[in-house]
Amino acid sequence: MKNENNKKVMLTGVRPSGNLTIGNYLGAIKNFVERQDSYESYIFIADLHAITSPRNPADLKKSIYDCIAMYLACGVDPNKTIIFKQSAVLEHGTLGFIMTFQTKMGELSRMTQFKLKSQQQTKEGVDTGLFVYPTLMVADILLYNTSIVPVGKDQQQHVELTRDLAERFNKRYGQTFLLPDVYVAPIGNKILNLQNPNEKMNKSDSGNNKGTIFLLDDIAVARKKIMSAKTDNFNSVHFDEERQPGISNLMSILAKITGESFQSIEQRFKNRGYGEFKKEVANEVCKLLEEIQSKYKKFNNQEFLDNLLFEGAIQAQKTASTTLSKSLTALGLK
Ligand code: ATP
Ligand code: MG
Repeated sequence: MKNENNKKVMLTGVRPSGNLTIGNYLGAIKNFVERQDSYESYIFIADLHAITSPRNPADLKKSIYDCIAMYLACGVDPNKTIIFKQSAVLEHGTLGFIMTFQTKMGELSRMTQFKLKSQQQTKEGVDTGLFVYPTLMVADILLYNTSIVPVGKDQQQHVELTRDLAERFNKRYGQTFLLPDVYVAPIGNKILNLQNPNEKMNKSDSGNNKGTIFLLDDIAVARKKIMSAKTDNFNSVHFDEERQPGISNLMSILAKITGESFQSIEQRFKNRGYGEFKKEVANEVCKLLEEIQSKYKKFNNQEFLDNLLFEGAIQAQKTASTTLSKSLTALGLK
C-alpha cells in the first residue's frame, strides 16, 4: 500500500528505557536513517512499551526527551520523517487491545524476548505487560500501513507475529491490514555485550555497565570499554561467531560503522595483535560517539522537542485513525 506521496511506509521505534546504546544505533537507527529518503518514514518513542515494567515517572519523562534528541543526533531528519510519541496517538492502545484478542496464548509464550525477560522477573511474578506487549507492537506497525520495519534480530519474531496476526484478521474480517516486511541488516543486527559476548547488549541492563557502550558515554570511558572487551586466546582477527564471539562482535561493530568487509578487516589485521585491532575499533567508535554527542547537545531542548512531537502526533494520528476506523468497521463495531 502506498500513501499520497506514492512512497511505501517505513517505521521503527525505541523504548525510552535508558540511554541508547551502540546496539540500538547500529541495529536499528542507522538502517532507518540511511533509508528515510526512500520511504514515507515514521519513527516513534515507544513510551507505552517502557511501562511494561515499573519506572520512576521523572526518569521516564527525561528518557523520552533524551531519546528524541538522540534520534535527531543520529541523523533522523524531521523534514523527512514523522517523529512522534506512541502514547500521544491513542489509536495505538485501541488497536493493541483489538489485536490481543486475535492472539493465542501459545503464540505469546513462544516469543523469545518473553522467555528471556520473564526469567529475570520470577521473584514477584511476571508482569502481564511483558507477555502482551508484542500485540501492542503489532498495532504500532499495522496502524501506518507499514511496508518495512528495520529492527535488530531480537525483534524479528515480533514483526513476523505482526504478519501472522494481520493475515488472520484479514481472513476473518476482510482485507484490512497490509502485511509488513522485517528488515534485519546482515551486519550489526545483534551487537553483543562486550564483557559477555554470549548476550545481547541492552540499554536497560542494570549494574555493571562495562560491557555496554552508551551513545552518551564519556569518550575515554567508551575507549576503555572497547580496549577491555572480552576476546579469546586464538590471537587471530577472524569472523567466527561460534568460536570467537568477542572478536566477531568487535568486527561487526567496525564493519557496520565504516562499511569495510569482514574479509578486508581480516586481511588488514593478519599477524597483528588484538591490541592493535581493538585500538582501531575504539578509534572508530569514539569518532562516531563524538559526532553524535556534539549534535545531541544542540537538540536536547524541551521546547523545541515539544513542538516537534506536537506536529508529529498530528500527522501520525491522521494515518492511524484511518486505519483504526477501517478495522472497527471490519469488526462490526462501527
Ligand atoms: P531494552 O533493554 O529496554 O529492551 P534494547 O537495547 O533492547 O533495550 P529496544 O528499545 O528494546 O532496545 O530496541 C530498540 C531497537 O534496537 C530494536 O529495533 C532492537 O531490535 C534494536 N536493538 C536493541 N539492542 C540491539 C543490539 N544489541 N544489537 C542490534 N540491535 C539492537
Ligand atoms: Mg529490547
